[in-house]
Amino acid sequence: MNALHALQTLAVSVRSVRKVYGDPHSGPVALKNIDLDIRDNEFFTLLGPSGCGKTTLLRMIAGFEFPTQGEILLYGENIAERPPFERPVNTVFQHYALFPHMTLAENLAFGLESRPMGQVLSKAQIAERVREMLALVQMERFAGRKPNQLSGGQQQRIALARALAPHPKVLLLDEPLSALDLKLRQAMREELKTIQAKTGITFIFVTHDQEEALTLSDRIAVLSEGEVQQVGRPEEIYEQPRNRFVADFIGETNFIQATVSRVEAGLVWFNGPAWHALPAQPCKEAQVGQQVTLSVRPERLHLCSDIAADALSCRIETMTYLGTDLQYQVSLSDGTRLTVRTPNSVEHNQRLAVGSNAGLVFERGSASVLLD
Ligand code: ATP
Repeated sequence: MNALHALQTLAVSVRSVRKVYGDPHSGPVALKNIDLDIRDNEFFTLLGPSGCGKTTLLRMIAGFEFPTQGEILLYGENIAERPPFERPVNTVFQHYALFPHMTLAENLAFGLESRPMGQVLSKAQIAERVREMLALVQMERFAGRKPNQLSGGQQQRIALARALAPHPKVLLLDEPLSALDLKLRQAMREELKTIQAKTGITFIFVTHDQEEALTLSDRIAVLSEGEVQQVGRPEEIYEQPRNRFVADFIGETNFIQATVSRVEAGLVWFNGPAWHALPAQPCKEAQVGQQVTLSVRPERLHLCSDIAADALSCRIETMTYLGTDLQYQVSLSDGTRLTVRTPNSVEHNQRLAVGSNAGLVFERGSASVLLD
């Protein structure tokens, strides 16, 4: 399939979906009015804090829950009437749910013998599929082992192989890495990405871990309280958050109150209480005189020991050693406090003393204008 076709084909379309548990008039509202398009062959992540509705949405795509209103299309087909086992969809859960008394090969074969997605496979086809899947997750030599003879990461790979074995068109992954320790989680991220690219299957991944979402995804939907806050590529979500929730949830940021001082050719300049004319930022909707909140990432602010002409004067309040980075808290003359992060590099870094005055420079284009 060429890239253009992949872009145009939608794997999953969620249309005006509302989900209320129990009584539709008085029950808890899990999802308010969700519209989402997930493309074929995409690694798509649903990201948000606990209770925002991620699992509910995943369970509706799988067919374990039904929308109260709206519809879900799978490759253009309304799947409301299709029971879970007839949908070309499979799920990997956080807890691996492997059968403890079966070997890994038997675990994989068992799912294929039960006619998944209406497929009837011969014994030879099943054996071939099991071999193919064990090879995909690099676990061929463990085929005869039982799940309790594996590490957590290896069990998760088998759970992934089992879910991929029936060749679903869409794979749903519900926080599949959260039971693993940090190093293993990082290694498994690489592996998930590689397997997704190799198989070309659409992955819909649920997590509350922003780093996981940023490193794995082609696109991310950020959810809060049953609503989509923003959909975009990782760099869009991080660099141009639409609102306060997204800016705050994804990484660290500084919120700064400012007034629009000039608008020209899609660029705006701002004045703040302690400074004038922040370098031009792209923004389509701002008007002169408008009060806005800006989000500026700590790594886009720079400190220097000399207060050069284009720098603001600030005072170093605290310095925290983070290993790869140093994090400073600085204050401006009006009391505004900002966080600045600099790489901990011998070459570029002269450490600034707490209590000293320093120059602070906003990188060009570093501030995004938040809409609410
Ligand atoms: P987590 O990351 O903690 O799993 P989530 O983002 O996946 O959270 P959901 O599990 O989809 O969130 O829950 C969304 C909302 O719906 C929550 O307020 C939750 O309490 C509610 N909810 C979920 N399942 C049910 C249920 N079976 N009955 C009633 N309310 C439910």
